[in-house]
Amino acid sequence: MTHVIDGNEVADGVREGLRDCIDDLESAGVTPGLATVLMSDDPASETYVSMKQRACEDLGIDGSHHELDPDAPADELFDVVDELNDDPGVHGILVQMPVPDHIENEAVLRRIDPIKDVDGFHPENVGRLVAGDARYKPCTPHGVQKLIEAADVETEGAHAVVVGRSDIVGKPMANLLIQKAPGGNATTTVCHSRTEDLGAVTRDADIVIAAVGVPELVDGSMIAAGATVIDVGVNRVDADTEKGYELVGDVDFESARERAGAITPVPGGVGPMTIAMLMYNTVKAAGVQEDVAIDLP
Ligand code: NDP
Repeated sequence: MTHVIDGNEVADGVREGLRDCIDDLESAGVTPGLATVLMSDDPASETYVSMKQRACEDLGIDGSHHELDPDAPADELFDVVDELNDDPGVHGILVQMPVPDHIENEAVLRRIDPIKDVDGFHPENVGRLVAGDARYKPCTPHGVQKLIEAADVETEGAHAVVVGRSDIVGKPMANLLIQKAPGGNATTTVCHSRTEDLGAVTRDADIVIAAVGVPELVDGSMIAAGATVIDVGVNRVDADTEKGYELVGDVDFESARERAGAITPVPGGVGPMTIAMLMYNTVKAAGVQEDVAIDLP
């Protein structure tokens, strides 16, 4: 029987652990604060930000939200970031990416105080991750690590294949998998659009992590029997539904499930973990900045 890994259940477990940390922080007079910043009309970005704010509300994290006109000059966004950097009640800052074309994503990431960079994308935090001394692990790859752990799948000595090399998923995922640490120690291969014979590489994997953005690219014929398959992809494809579309992953779930030992669904797999790990980083940020010892889940 293939184990379908329930991301909502694992995320619930993380949130429960965080509630204890938040109680400890409250006892020390600290309420963790997360500020979200949105500079986009994109409905998907709006949805992601409102889900993050709802998650704050649910946990008792002090969520504040800042919206800017997508046509506003870069300085307006930088001023908001500077104010949040200086606000002692804000422990984490999340600027929803991408920002409009007239602003460089990199410039925004560099503007955020690294100690408040709960996405983990500031160059200082990227460097620390690569050096094996992560301050904030990027939320999606960290969530994937938790899912693999929750499925009782051993990464040590396993061959893990990451399909995708983006700065937000593929690269940090590979970096976590090669760390000399629990959830790491995997022999890790990274594939991308120039990889020749992708199926030959993924068929050699004990763990396949697909973060590609191509609907159902990885199918059952590309999976070794018993492998663990983690599908990061979220793709809207036209469908005869009320909304006119449905969400599918980068993995063809039905054919992959027939081969895999464990697999994540879309939706309900990696997605809920990304938000739970953002809350984790926010709580961690509050502990670090306020010098309160907490026992993170
Ligand atoms: P990017 O578009 O930034 O990167 C995609 C990567 O996939 C690139 O490295 C690209 O290669 C590679 N790629 C594209 N086509 C192929 C192919 N045919 N064969 C092999 N590799 C290929 O995407 P992201 O990393 O930002 O996101 C990936 C997916 O994950 C998306 O569906 C996104 O929506 C989803 N996502 C989900 C999250 C969640 O919380 N569930 C969070 C973040 C992302 P190259 O570098 O050569 O161009």
